[in-house]
Amino acid sequence: MRSNDFLRADWNYPTAIKVGAGRIKELPGLCRSLGMHHVLLVTDPGLAQMAIVQQAVADCQSAGLGCAVFSNIKSNPTEKNVTDGVLAYRAGKHDGVIAFGGGSALDAAKAIALMVGQDRPLWDFEDIGDNYLRVYVAGMAPVVAVPTTAGTGSEVGRASVITDDKAHVKRIIFHARMLPAAVILDPGLSIGLPARLTAATGMDALSHSLEAYCSPFYHPMAAGIALEGIRLVKEWLPVAVRDGGNLEARLQMLVASSMGATAFQRGLGAMHALAHPLGALYDAHHGTLNAILMPYVLLANRAAIDMRITSLARYLDLPQPSFGALLDWVLALREQIGIPHTLAAIGIDAAQAERIARMAVVDGSAATNPIQFNEDEYADILSKAVAGSLF
Ligand SMILES: [Zn+2]
Repeated sequence: MRSNDFLRADWNYPTAIKVGAGRIKELPGLCRSLGMHHVLLVTDPGLAQMAIVQQAVADCQSAGLGCAVFSNIKSNPTEKNVTDGVLAYRAGKHDGVIAFGGGSALDAAKAIALMVGQDRPLWDFEDIGDNYLRVYVAGMAPVVAVPTTAGTGSEVGRASVITDDKAHVKRIIFHARMLPAAVILDPGLSIGLPARLTAATGMDALSHSLEAYCSPFYHPMAAGIALEGIRLVKEWLPVAVRDGGNLEARLQMLVASSMGATAFQRGLGAMHALAHPLGALYDAHHGTLNAILMPYVLLANRAAIDMRITSLARYLDLPQPSFGALLDWVLALREQIGIPHTLAAIGIDAAQAERIARMAVVDGSAATNPIQFNEDEYADILSKAVAGSLF
């Protein structure tokens, strides 16, 4: 990193964000400023064993904060994970949540913080119609979010994706106040992330900015954020994958990830509409799915986004800026960072194509895709992505 001071700032858009290397040390003070005395740190079982979590817990405790860890969550967190977390929160008489980890931990933590104040079941708060009006807001716990991967951007999101393992679908739980009260983006925490996960999560961040940028929803502020989020991925994702110890690349990708999630207040699109059912049915990595689907969805959307993508290619300074140039860049980036070209390469065939297409059409992300695809069109994208046929 050029210097610690150059890449260090306090932002309040869309929430309070503390950016910079070493800023994890401010965690106890942030919790205290939000009125917390006895926090529940929610993370995944792997991270719970690692020094970064143990150090954060020790720092909280030596600052006089009570701090317990809840880590019984799956990589695609389920309703039971949330319910168990609520029980742990209540049993420990906690008064705030630290959401620490990748997207799964952050989503589970935010859902737990919502549910500690509710007496209805989780699915009553699914993001449908005005369900959010059912939330008893005063009962929600405050959240400090500390992402350790650069992908979902859940730290600046107002929703959690939770898997309904009875219906085999991913459901979005939404309330505007699920936005964490404060966020720490400290690149030192993502140094240990393996290259393969750095690549997959980074491509999720790219898919958020790219789908938000292509969405027809009127939100120019979010469109601007999406553009710059894509540029940061272009500049820094290959560096972060190649040289995981590069603090500047890690920081820039954390920022790109937060920008992607801020941008998708504009909505997402067909990559996510397909990745959600595929993730629920095959338990495949969300970022990897979006990364594989990306060029096939861009091509399917081409008629509606040709002009916009040409502007994007110009902003990214691609040679001979055009839709084709952007597509070539996506394909080259995927290859460079080791993303497979086909769904078949990760063990997904077209056997359930009709079922997945049915789920994609009604997925929450489908509504803001530039073209309203029908089931046949989703099935067609899926079979192309299975087989690797771009044209
Ligand atoms: Zn995503």
